[in-house]
Amino acid sequence: MHHFPDATAVVRALAPDEPVILNRPHAARRAARFFVEKFPGKSLYAVKANPSPDLLRVLWDAGVTHYDVASIAEVRLVASTLPEAKLCFMHPVKTPRAISEAYHEHGCRTFSLDTVEELNKIVEACRDADGKPATDLRLCIRLRVSSEYSELSLASKFGCDLTEAPALLQEARQHCDWLGLCFHVGSQAMTPFAYVQALERVRVAIAEAGVVIDMVDVGGGFPSVYPGMEPPPLEDYFAIIHKQFYSLPIAYNAELWCEPGRALCAEYSSIVVRVEKRRGDELYINDGAYGALFDAAHIGWNFPVRALEDDLIKPEMDFAFYGPTCDDADYMKGPFPLPEDIQAGDYIEIGMLGAYGAAMKTDFNGFGAAERIVVEDEPMASLYDGSRKREEADNVVSLR
Ligand SMILES: *Cc1c(COP(=O)(O)O)cnc(C)c1O
Repeated sequence: MHHFPDATAVVRALAPDEPVILNRPHAARRAARFFVEKFPGKSLYAVKANPSPDLLRVLWDAGVTHYDVASIAEVRLVASTLPEAKLCFMHPVKTPRAISEAYHEHGCRTFSLDTVEELNKIVEACRDADGKPATDLRLCIRLRVSSEYSELSLASKFGCDLTEAPALLQEARQHCDWLGLCFHVGSQAMTPFAYVQALERVRVAIAEAGVVIDMVDVGGGFPSVYPGMEPPPLEDYFAIIHKQFYSLPIAYNAELWCEPGRALCAEYSSIVVRVEKRRGDELYINDGAYGALFDAAHIGWNFPVRALEDDLIKPEMDFAFYGPTCDDADYMKGPFPLPEDIQAGDYIEIGMLGAYGAAMKTDFNGFGAAERIVVEDEPMASLYDGSRKREEADNVVSLR
């Protein structure tokens, strides 16, 4: 891979005709070290946020040993990229063959589930050649929790509710020596209180089930920073989760896990695009809804932008973007503030696309190509560069 100091150097050297994805391994390493050192438990990386093998190796080298995989393709990818990594199959709806291959061929022992049907499926798929049931399963019951504090809901699709959880926990306990509870508060949780509320549900489920719990997994949802979405410091999330965890009725040696996706990789990538046409306050750029800007188009997510030309001097105004495909839906309303004299031929860097951005690119309409280049400058925003100090009074949710 090529190395450049920053986006401007890339544009000067290459004047690229197609979008270029800029990767910042140092930013992903810093995020991973933050979680490894400060989260009061084990941090799994949720591979779906960005499955790039280069990124997986950066995270591994930074100390992330466990990986949350959701499909057999992700199982194979992590197993082949990081042969010593621990795989945790955390999608509650899996196919029997995927479970069997993960267990028998890739050493995966940890599986999540939210129904008795899935429990039976796992037990069947993991039998040995003589038909004996596995004795080393690590099962994790996914609880449905509220997404009300998150920008992106994950509340309706997966997870059993509190009326179902006790029976499922008791049933699962018959099939494993290691039983956990997991949940997902939704992506980009804007307050640590989201986890307090979810852990209260965990408490109720455990009390009603009356079973020994060996692990509680607070899932993903840890935020990154985007225009208009500035979360409290992650230390506040960690402190509150730690405190709640220790007050749960669980085994004395129970483990605490989390599964960040976004928070580990949002800062990893940005993208350089070119303006191909201007129509008033609309810029036609060469990446869009079917490229790295899926979330900008479909859920109106805002990403930071900057013009990469030195000769643009006018004050900024708000623009909307059209992507390159022939589809009207290939539209990002922004607003994206850029110099008002920006025009066709100018380049723009769009930041914070390492999570659910670079990973979403498709080849639709022939516009999928993008070179990947390593750059050394800082991401356009960061939760980890020391610029965001803890402000106890302002944004810590008090538990007292
Ligand atoms: C998507 C997902 C994650 C990662 O979520 P983020 O909001 O990106 O941190 C973690 N766990 C599960 C089960 C997921 O589906």
